[in-house]
Amino acid sequence: MYYKSTRGNEQRVSSSEAVLYGMANDGGLYMPEYIPYIEDISYMKKMSYQEIAYEILKLYFTDYTEIELKECIEGAYSKENFNSDNIVELNNKDGYYFLELYHGKTIAFKDMALSILPRLLSVAVKKNNINKKVLILTATSGDTGKAALEGFKDIDGIDIAVFYPKGGVSRIQELQMLTQEGNNTHVIAVEGNFDDAQNGVKEIFNDREFNEKLLAENIILSSANSINIGRLVPQIIYYFYTYLNLADKGKIKFGDTLNVCVPTGNFGNIFAAYLAKKMGLPINKLICASNENKVLYDFINTGIYDKNRPFILTKSPSMDILISSNLERLLYILSGCDCKYIKGIYEEFRQSGKFVIRDDIKDALNKEFISGYMDDERTLYYIKYIFDKEKYLIDTHTAVSYGVCKEMRETSDDIVIASTASPYKFVYDVLKALKNEEHLDDFIKACEELSKISEVDIPEAVNSLRYKDIKHNIICKKDSMANSITDLLNL
Ligand SMILES: *Cc1c(COP(=O)(O)O)cnc(C)c1O
Repeated sequence: MYYKSTRGNEQRVSSSEAVLYGMANDGGLYMPEYIPYIEDISYMKKMSYQEIAYEILKLYFTDYTEIELKECIEGAYSKENFNSDNIVELNNKDGYYFLELYHGKTIAFKDMALSILPRLLSVAVKKNNINKKVLILTATSGDTGKAALEGFKDIDGIDIAVFYPKGGVSRIQELQMLTQEGNNTHVIAVEGNFDDAQNGVKEIFNDREFNEKLLAENIILSSANSINIGRLVPQIIYYFYTYLNLADKGKIKFGDTLNVCVPTGNFGNIFAAYLAKKMGLPINKLICASNENKVLYDFINTGIYDKNRPFILTKSPSMDILISSNLERLLYILSGCDCKYIKGIYEEFRQSGKFVIRDDIKDALNKEFISGYMDDERTLYYIKYIFDKEKYLIDTHTAVSYGVCKEMRETSDDIVIASTASPYKFVYDVLKALKNEEHLDDFIKACEELSKISEVDIPEAVNSLRYKDIKHNIICKKDSMANSITDLLNL
């Protein structure tokens, strides 16, 4: 299986090269030449998470050997990295299946892919005889940063720099990053929002002069964002796992369809669900849940993507995004891999911040995707609602999805809600939802209070923050991100 750019660059690369380079050099994203199809998925029904992982990954990472992939999987999805025996947990509450993806080290769903990406990348470096240092550049809306730092810390031959929007992440998210250990980790606050940080990173990738300068120092760039195929593919696994698990337990029959609802930002998680569907998993509707930055909601309903609107800081900060990178991959597929067309609309987008899709693509989109959105007030309302009803605690992002499902007209299929973060990561807002009091300013006190009310233990990832020192303090302007890299590497 080879990978190609969504924007038509003719050069094909292997899967390990796609993982290594992160992004095609014409500004497009790598896509596999075809999407593998599994005729009958039922053969996997007794498999563990790790075994299913192998069945999925082997279809996409075809130049990795069986042993390489299995070592990556065993290392990533281990008891040490996840505090759930099944890696994910599935809970039936209020008639929905909550797929808890936050039992990894940094207590957000980003661990699902970022526990394995560094391993896939290390193998890719060896496989392609890269005798260079790899510098991972990552923009984060809060959760990717910490998960990537944790995944890449102290790995030989790799450095990682994370850019996060100053003031655009939760206090706990920020503390998790600023206290990061490891001698190869860098954390930089950007004076701007997530889109500024993500654009800055993309520009650095496409800045030829800068890349040559790095190359002269024997450094190449790679990415830990969901633009990297090594992030996307591991996210397919848990949709298969969920379906197989429900079928095996007799909650559904093989062949029954499920709907999947995903709180969406960069369109990575929901795109992985879409790939699962294309691969033969019986998913009916993909429900795209937005917060008040509802650029995707508007797009799905009108066919017009328009980022020219105020960027709103919400209580679900990991979804505060107006430029949803992975949408490009979906449009590439829906257009019949028409890379000329994709290049065209993204050129238009670069100039005007807006594009309108063809009618046939809009029709194809609406066959598979529906969308809803929640403002902060409704989001907090639904946190309290499900807690009062089921004594079940969810975070602000998951609550966006849950609220969207509750307010949607009935669909006949069961719905799986991707539960993307531990409520403790957003403790002030979750507490505000439950008690309607302004937050305490001490996060440990807030966590203790939440634990008392909910009887859910404080996760170690949060608890340990009280003993950790701040190790990073760089702040940069949004147009000087490249300079901050040269400073940090003393170039
Ligand atoms: C990253 C993130 C999202 C959005 O996921 P995308 O793949 O970017 O759409 C939602 N919720 C949480 C908690 C996240 O960390």
